[in-house]
Amino acid sequence: MQKCASGKRSYATAALAEEALLEAHIHFTFERANGPVTFYLCEDCGQYHLTSKGPVNERLAQLIKNGELARLKEAQAWARRLNKK
Ligand SMILES: [Zn+2]
Repeated sequence: MQKCASGKRSYATAALAEEALLEAHIHFTFERANGPVTFYLCEDCGQYHLTSKGPVNERLAQLIKNGELARLKEAQAWARRLNKK
């Protein structure tokens, strides 16, 4: 994978970037207005990066609004507990 001058992690497609964005919110709890909210196409490397600036990604906003994110977080926390030996 090509390294970007921005030093940010790159994603080859918008779909991958969105997946990473949603996963970040499932695995970590961000303070309000902290953490990535969406992704953008980088002019330097031609790949996608996550960013904490700009309007919240539609899918992420929906997951938060309908409570699905909280449900996924809980499921993920349980999976982590169960996998611990
Ligand atoms: Zn870049």
